[in-house]
Amino acid sequence: MALSPERIRTVFSEHGRRINPALGQNFCVEGALLSAAAARVCLPDLPVLEIGPGLGALTEELLPRAERVVAVEKDAFLAGLLPQLLPDTRLQVVTGDILRADVPALMGDSPYVVAGNLPYYITTPIVERFLPLLPERMLFMVQKEAAARFFAAPGERVYGAVSVLSQVYYRPEPLFSVPRHCYYPQPEVDSAVVLLTKRAPADLAALPAPDALLRFVRTALAMRRKTLVNNFPRDGRVAALLPAQGIPENVRAETLPPQTLAQLCLLYENAVLPCEI
Ligand code: SAM
Repeated sequence: MALSPERIRTVFSEHGRRINPALGQNFCVEGALLSAAAARVCLPDLPVLEIGPGLGALTEELLPRAERVVAVEKDAFLAGLLPQLLPDTRLQVVTGDILRADVPALMGDSPYVVAGNLPYYITTPIVERFLPLLPERMLFMVQKEAAARFFAAPGERVYGAVSVLSQVYYRPEPLFSVPRHCYYPQPEVDSAVVLLTKRAPADLAALPAPDALLRFVRTALAMRRKTLVNNFPRDGRVAALLPAQGIPENVRAETLPPQTLAQLCLLYENAVLPCEI
């Protein structure tokens, strides 16, 4: 059950604290939505890594559906309060920045899923941090504009690394629209819940390593108006492999579909640098 706005205000004031907008603290007050979201991301017997649990509205819905929940919260006050709000031996609250957390140390080598109502100010860094780690599923509550990145097609303004990696390694699915009144304090924009489901092992076999693809796409799209080749100055490998792929030398990376960029990355990683003697 998510806390009501009144209860959220009381919890903070009872402890002499204030909601911290700088940490993107917009708490979800729509319990039914969180329950439906948790049901879609959890897999039987798998642990969940939750990003930014806050007062535990989503955590509470994840716990009955997960093997255990590891929740990373940057606000030390909230991280200290959460075990009192949700006493459960299967909940491990870690105080810290999710961008610096040692995920393998927290989750071990076994499969896990990721869920979070993300702090809007670091949505893209969080998503770009987790995509290369390839958790089984990821559920993100994000602002609508950020949600569009997962589904963007070549040529769209928000097409970028998040679109490419999400579509190559995962099937992204829009689950719910979340009107701004579902949060307290109310933000200025609406949000959405997005679910990413990892593709089958056979589909992942012939792909580049995700961190290599992230590096490649970041470079390829660094200057969007430049050609792909010009975004790799002093590196002849990209120019050398385009003709065999039937791709014109003046192509811009933002016009290439995710699978083509993945294929180019694979060839690029395996290419021998042309000799310039
Ligand atoms: N999960 C809660 C909910 O749905 O009501 C809170 C979501 S609120 C949008 C984002 C949460 O992320 C806040 O609790 C905030 O303190 C926390 N947070 C902000 N930056 C963080 C970071 N770098 N690492 C971990 N947590 C962070």
